[in-house]
Amino acid sequence: MVEAMRFPCRSKFLPAVLPILSAVLFTACSAEQSVRPGATQSLQPALFDSERALREAADLAALYPRDAGTPGAEQAALHLRDRLQAAGLEAFIDSFPDPTPTGTQTFHNVFGRLPGQGRGLLLLASHYDSKSGMEPPFCGANDSASSSGVLLELARLLAPHTNLPPEILLVFFDGEECLRYYSEHDGLHGSRHLARQLVENGKQNDVQAVILLDMVGDKDYNITIPQNTTPSLAHIALDAAQAEGIRSSFSLYRYAMGDDHVPFLAAGMPAINLIDFEFGSAPGRNDYWHTPDDNMAHISAESLGKTGRVVLHMLNTLIHSK
Ligand SMILES: [Zn+2]
Repeated sequence: MVEAMRFPCRSKFLPAVLPILSAVLFTACSAEQSVRPGATQSLQPALFDSERALREAADLAALYPRDAGTPGAEQAALHLRDRLQAAGLEAFIDSFPDPTPTGTQTFHNVFGRLPGQGRGLLLLASHYDSKSGMEPPFCGANDSASSSGVLLELARLLAPHTNLPPEILLVFFDGEECLRYYSEHDGLHGSRHLARQLVENGKQNDVQAVILLDMVGDKDYNITIPQNTTPSLAHIALDAAQAEGIRSSFSLYRYAMGDDHVPFLAAGMPAINLIDFEFGSAPGRNDYWHTPDDNMAHISAESLGKTGRVVLHMLNTLIHSK
């Protein structure tokens, strides 16, 4: 699923081969408990607070620039960790070096963890870095604060659910954006690092789903699920959108997309990317992307709410399918 590369000139790349780097011990998700029978409380999509998600997005967007390796990125990582802790989740930062076209940089993946009572691991992911080399006042409101705001609101809702069978990891990736062109040492640094950790620690078969959110705040809401998505997860997402009454806002995109879900797909883990890659001044256009028009005026609480509620429907399906 990872081979299709039919992007327009400004789009993201898709790596054909993922690098194998040095081993890093992964100790975050070591719970191996027996399945506890009994009913599991369903998550309530209606409880997702869209305005709260928008405030979280605005707070992160205010931290700019936050491209990988900058003080802003470090500040953003600490901010996200603090917000996860405030939500009631165990939170930590995994800092690691990784080569880039301009030398080795330190990246920071941020995690919130909800321990599971049984087997299985669900990853909910966003990136939090902003595109480098942009002129102020570029703040990455949609790319990447929107998805991070949704994830923080999901953290608040999930925190009391300590009785769910699977472990849930909320992951905020650093270094999604490339400096020059996406390649094995440029872009997707955080996601490649985590996928590698999972494989090296024999955890990849525990992963039920990687649900990646990216650019989910456009007021003109139109989720374009890329071709390189696990089909069963696409079905679950479309059913979730149907349940939420917004099926017409979800479509299967005609292209594959290079994004943080790719390293997981490449390692055999089920993954989906919920992304609105038509972020622009008119339907079908993406001309706000990576421009100063990616600002808070062009994203809405309503769109964040739609995304959050769809994810909660998806989690209910996934949690009760195993
Ligand atoms: Zn971007």
